[in-house]
Amino acid sequence: MTITLLERLGGRSTIARGVEAVFRRLSRHPHPSHREEATREDYIAFLREELGAEPRTDQAGNLLCRLNATPGREGRPRLILQGHMDMVCASAGGFRPEQDAVTILNQDGFLRSDGRSSLGADNGLGNAAVLWLLSTGQVAHGPLSLLFTTAEEVGLAGAREVDTSWLSDGNCLLNTDGFHLGRAIVGSAGGRRETWTRPLETQAAPQLPAWRLTLTGGLGGHSGDDIHRGRANTIKLLTNYLAGLPGARLAALSGGMAHNAIPAQAQAVVFAPAQPDLTLLREALEPYGETDPGLTAECVRTEAPPQVWTPALQAHTLAFLSGLYHGVYAMDAAFPGTVGASANLGRVWTEENTLRISTFLRAARQQEEKELADRHEALARAHGFTGTVVSYPGWPGDRNNSLAASLDKVWRTQTGCGLDISAVHVGLEPSIFQAKVPGMVMASTGPDILDAHSVDERAPVDSLPDYVLLLAGLLEAI
Ligand SMILES: [Zn+2]
Repeated sequence: MTITLLERLGGRSTIARGVEAVFRRLSRHPHPSHREEATREDYIAFLREELGAEPRTDQAGNLLCRLNATPGREGRPRLILQGHMDMVCASAGGFRPEQDAVTILNQDGFLRSDGRSSLGADNGLGNAAVLWLLSTGQVAHGPLSLLFTTAEEVGLAGAREVDTSWLSDGNCLLNTDGFHLGRAIVGSAGGRRETWTRPLETQAAPQLPAWRLTLTGGLGGHSGDDIHRGRANTIKLLTNYLAGLPGARLAALSGGMAHNAIPAQAQAVVFAPAQPDLTLLREALEPYGETDPGLTAECVRTEAPPQVWTPALQAHTLAFLSGLYHGVYAMDAAFPGTVGASANLGRVWTEENTLRISTFLRAARQQEEKELADRHEALARAHGFTGTVVSYPGWPGDRNNSLAASLDKVWRTQTGCGLDISAVHVGLEPSIFQAKVPGMVMASTGPDILDAHSVDERAPVDSLPDYVLLLAGLLEAI
């Protein structure tokens, strides 16, 4: 009689309880990005006590642990299992993410927080699944490297610092930050954060009444996940309106929150002989009735500021903003339904007498990013803006990725269904690793996680055994 993998691991409820216990152990301390020290000590203690292994760390706080193969599997390819240790700390009700640990509840079939913070299942739960599985000693595997990174949530910062030697002895890498059980991601978008500046040139204000124009109530959203939903860009809408407003002199303009969020509000102060007529702006909002039902334009008289923008600054800024690309630029031909390249005009603000504009490009393929970047740079030159750029590369997807094929085979055997092999229009750490070790075969998978980065973040307990079985099946198949 053969004992199944599920039986060896003790059955579904043992697996779910085991993963939950490890996840709790790794969640005892706050671990926002760049503040992972205490939690890293918990990872190190687990690796020493439960796996008898000796991990090492680097300057960025990343953690590497090499494990020997189980007997008879020494010659197998080395698999790197990788996840990030930090979490996005959404908070409510007085929760202090730097000091307070997350309270984890197991309620109605979900692991969730007490509603005051995000859960940190992204990516702590994937890491816990790997660690619990290996701690059972019940799974055969080849040589393994466990890599846990820091500061993923702030521009993949830890992954950037990983030394190539930590990766180069690996044959393939499985990232556990995939969010959807039953899916293997084999490609992700690169990101290019552009900040454009121009000195704020002003002159004495004209003898005209001043008006405050506001456009609020947009839905906004994530510049990768939501860019294809056609939501309003309030900065674009307001500046297009201002460009067509006869005789108006701009004294202030701002909008949006971040380079990687679709702007949900924008405002301006203008001098104009009469109260600006908002008819044209309201007409421009009409197409967004479905996507952004809360959009509201208003204009009120306001106290006159002493200075206005020079006519040149006003004309160049409005033309620059109108020319910057926003929205889906190209779909990914290899992955129907997935955005291939996009741009987000995310924020306009003034700081230290400098006008600042931030945009964010995402593209799986370098050529499309370059087209958008060239366009923005040409516009900036024409309109007197200077740009600074921070970027990370794309991870172009390969459907015939051998690691995804192995995962798919295991999943078919275990569930009777194929894995969804897809690409995503957001940044993932494998894009950094691919640039360090070109040709490394990689995929990203994970247990189900819902509403990550919010206080409603939760993970169905039921998906944990399936995810652990997928990992275990893969380890034995390689
Ligand atoms: Zn994550």
